[in-house]
Order: sequence, then C-alpha cells, then structure tokens
Amino acid sequence: MTTTCLLCETNKHTKIKFNQNFSPEDLTGEVFSARRSTEHYHYQILECQTCGSVFSSPILPYEKIAGLYKTSKQNYDDETSFINESYIAYINQNNALFKNREKALEIGCGSGFFLRALQKTGYKEVAGVEPSEEAVSKSGDLKDRIFTGFFEETNYAPNSFDLVTCFQTLDHLIDPFSVLKKIHEVLKPGGIAYLIMHNEKSLQAKFFGEKSPIYDVEHIYLFNKETLSRFVKKAGFNIMKLFDIKNIYPLSYWLRMAPIPMKKSITFMAKAMHLMNVRIGIYPGNIGIFIQKPE
Ligand SMILES: [Zn+2]
Repeated sequence: MTTTCLLCETNKHTKIKFNQNFSPEDLTGEVFSARRSTEHYHYQILECQTCGSVFSSPILPYEKIAGLYKTSKQNYDDETSFINESYIAYINQNNALFKNREKALEIGCGSGFFLRALQKTGYKEVAGVEPSEEAVSKSGDLKDRIFTGFFEETNYAPNSFDLVTCFQTLDHLIDPFSVLKKIHEVLKPGGIAYLIMHNEKSLQAKFFGEKSPIYDVEHIYLFNKETLSRFVKKAGFNIMKLFDIKNIYPLSYWLRMAPIPMKKSITFMAKAMHLMNVRIGIYPGNIGIFIQKPE
C-alpha cells in the first residue's frame, strides 16, 4: 500500500532517497522483532521535498504487517534494566511535569518491564498495550493489565491517564496521526505523553547513510526534531520539552548494534580485555519529547 507524507498529506513532491532492498518472502516475524542484529531490509524510502519528512512507501498491506508483529519476539530481555534506567531518568529529572501519578499507560509495552519501573517511581495504576503474544506471555502478574493487540483496538475511557509512554513505536505505525489523536483523547487535560523515537537527522543517520539501522522495514515514518514538532502540534499537543536521549548500555550491546566494519575483531579484542560489561552512555540518535494535552 502507498503511504503519504504525514504533514503534507500528499506524495506529489517526494523524491526517492533509497530503493527497496528485499523481496516480500524475506520477511518473517523474526525480522519484525526489535533489537535483533539488523538485516538492513528497508522499503523504498521517500523524502518529501516540501517539509523534509522521510517515510517508507509503498509498504506491505496492514494485515500482513499486523500479523508479523503478533508473531514477533521480545528478544531483548537482558537489556530491559538498561532501558528502564535510561528512560526513567528523564521523568525523575523533570518532576514538575509529572506531579500527578495516578494512572499511566504504555503503548508497545513488551513484557511490561517499563510499567514496573513506572510503579516504582510512584504510578499507582499502570496499563499496557502490546501486540506480541510472546512478549505478553512474559509479563507475570501484570498480564491482566496488558491488552494483547494494537492501541487502535482498545477502548480506554477518555481523560483517564496522567501519563502515556510510547517508546520506539511511533515510527513503526502505519497511521501515527490516529494514534497520536487517540493518545490525546485518553490523556487527562494537563496530562503528558512521553515519546521516544529515532532522529532521522542524527549524526549517526548521516554518517551511516543507507546502512543506518533507522532505515528498516519496521519503520514507516521517520522523524526529526522539526517534523516531529509540527506533527505533535497538528494533533493538538503543546511541546513541553524536546531533547536528545542518552542510552546506557554495556559495550557488548553497542558492538552488536553498530553497523561498523571489523566488528568481529573489535568484539574479540573487547572480550579479551574483559570490557564487554563496561557501561557506556551514548547518544545513539534518539529524540525524546514531553507533550501536554492542554488543560
Ligand atoms: Zn511533506
């Protein structure tokens, strides 16, 4: 199916940035699992000449993509404590924005690991949405708090959440505008949505070009600070804070994810020097944003 520029709502002024590099039979639920070492499959990538938005088009039909997510696996269980630490820090550093901690919702919550971090930081009631059945099966006592499926299919009451989080998910959506409008609907007036996504204009993206992990068959729409700002305002939000995300991970993780030459030799040396577990904070080219539903 064809997708169109989110801001201009047309494809009339696009140019091809990269050509599609796979055939449809290459795609499996495995490919659609987060944080695998990437195959670098991507669709044809278009760039809108009017607003600078970058997006995949054409893409597989909705049903096919939804099916791939349902059978995808949460294959980053040993990294969840690092994700929690990196992402919760921004809430704790901006306490004034997160005064009310009654109810929080996470879209794309996996096994619910961040919901647990939210509970620890004071959220009384948490809820999650996750399409991967395998991920939800690992959620333990949070299972009855998680809806197995897509956010579009849920019917949470309007004006009910103080916080909605959505990490590394917005760029995977076929219709991110509807999702953002629905987030707006379920937030209480004054409530905050905390989103994290790749920055299409990051140094890494420029440096690695087509080899950058952001050009990926899972990513439909890619954002930069400017297109993201215009997009969230269009959905009725006020921008409270827009920032670069610093992630803390062990060296072994960075080596696995980086599209660098001589990876095997560098990994071998790092292992020999017992450096694989050294924790390193890096700005990997992700944007964080706090947006508020007006009071
Ligand atoms: Zn455009």
